[in-house]
Order: sequence, then C-alpha cells, then structure tokens
Amino acid sequence: MSIERRYSDYNKYLRSIYGQRVQKITVDTGLGCPNRDGTLASGGCIYCNSRGSGSGLFNKGLSINEQIEMGRRAMIRRYKASKFLVYFQSYTNTYTSCDNMKRMYDEALSVPGMVGMAIGTRSDCVDEEKLDLIAAYAREYLVWVEYGLQSVHDSTLKRINRGHDFESFKTAAALSRERGINVCAHVILGLPGEDRAMMLETARVLGELGIDGVKLHLLYVVKGTPLEVMWKNGAYHCLEQREYVDILCDFLELLPKSVIIQRVTGDPHPEELAAPAWSMERNETFKMIQETMASRDSFQGKRFSK
Ligand code: SF4
Repeated sequence: MSIERRYSDYNKYLRSIYGQRVQKITVDTGLGCPNRDGTLASGGCIYCNSRGSGSGLFNKGLSINEQIEMGRRAMIRRYKASKFLVYFQSYTNTYTSCDNMKRMYDEALSVPGMVGMAIGTRSDCVDEEKLDLIAAYAREYLVWVEYGLQSVHDSTLKRINRGHDFESFKTAAALSRERGINVCAHVILGLPGEDRAMMLETARVLGELGIDGVKLHLLYVVKGTPLEVMWKNGAYHCLEQREYVDILCDFLELLPKSVIIQRVTGDPHPEELAAPAWSMERNETFKMIQETMASRDSFQGKRFSK
C-alpha cells in the first residue's frame, strides 16, 4: 500500500479537487501576534521564533503581491505549475481589522491561477464578523483556516504560554465550520510535560470533534527561546526520531480518514535550530514513517471509533 493510501494526504486531496498538483505559495504579511506584542500577559509561546514562523520577507519590504509573484515564478519554472494556493503563514493573520483582512485576501486571490487560501491564525483572534468575511471567499475559493492548537490539554497550553485554552479552539472551530470554512488544527508532538498517552488523547479528541485537517509538527528547540533555556538546564528533553515516528503513526490511526493530513514533520531553519539535530533529516523521517506504517499495517482511522 502506498503511503498516500495509508493516510489522507493533502497533495492528493488537492489533486482530487483540481485534477492537477496545486502549489502552495507562502506569504508573510507582517501582522503581529497578541501573544508576542504584550497584549496577552502570557509572554509568548515558549518555542516561538522571532519571525513567528514566517519568511521575514515583509520586513524586507516585499508586498503580498511581490512575494506571491516571486513564489509563482519559481513554481512555474520548477514544476510548470498553473494552480496555486496562498498560505498566510507567519504570526496571526486575522490579527487586524476586517478591512485590512479583505485588502490582503483580495490582493492575493487576484493573482492568476490562485484557487484558494489557507489562513494561519489563533482561535482567540477570530470573531463572527471576521469569519463571515472569510466565509464569503469560501463560496468561490478553497478556504482553510489553520488554528494553532498544539494540544487539547489546558495544563499543557498553560505550560507553553499559549495564551488561550482548548475551549477557545473548540468555539472558533465550530463557528468556522458552520460557515463552510475548512478547519485545520496544528498539533505539536513532544511538548513539555506531555507523555504518549496525552498526545494520543489529543488525537482522540480531535477525531471526535470533526475537524477537517491536521498539521503535525515535532517540537524542536529554537535558539534564543525560553524552551532553549529549559532544554539547556535539563528541564526539557526532545523526542527521539524513533519515538516521534511511533507516536505519529499511533496518532494517525486514531484520526478518522476524513481528516486531511497536511503535514507530518517539522521544518526548522538550520541556522536557528538548537535541537534535536535529527529534525533536519526530513526525508529520513518521512521514510521511517512509511516503513513503520507498512510494517505495522497501519493506516489512518485504523483505531478510530466515534
Ligand atoms: S501564537 Fe504563533 S506567533 Fe504567537 S507567540 Fe505563539 S507561536 Fe509565536
């Protein structure tokens, strides 16, 4: 069985809708995050890098259109791509007024070949007005909202200074889905204080919640973060590659097949990574996932029960 058939792979999902590969173009809008700028008292997620997972291109003066054009040209050259999806990745892409959100989304979706958008944000940075605006695009385009959740355990969310609880995610996910917006939850495996059972409980709860997609990440240590201090003084230990792969396979088995798996590994910048070194071996990790799923005859939904 191919890996694509062992779980509901995102690229395959896009191909099933558009009949061809759809290339994602990531943009950095320069919007901040209430958990970094002092609006929330929590002081920022303990693993957050200073770019908020963005490319930093906005700070280099590139507009949304310029960033998309740059990505689009590269995709056309490399893959002869003709369909694209814009991904608002960095920081919190609804942390602004509805007028500004509309300006950004209109600008991005006006690019030839753009079939949709994915908006990365926090569950405490949406409201009914913002979701109504996003839902209006969903009538014509493929629209996903990606909420950083990381864990369903409030004790963990507190420990990592997430600044919101699981209830906040549940509310935002329900308000989004009832408007026809696809909801993706970002989950991190290996968070401090979490054992295997807690991580798999996150899979069970999300499976029952009926969301549309999941992005799975490994927790890696970024230089200059509070997590690096914890790691250096022995208060935090990174997952081993083998552990990560085994937990990830268990996680997939607990999710219903309808959940689109958008990511199964992390993607650290080499210059900012403190640990673990194996997180740079993306191909090796992916190969281990394939081999492990095959040897266990594992597949998404194998242990899902409502
Ligand atoms: S929500 Fe994202 S950008 Fe904000 S502090 Fe957490 S990781 Fe950083």
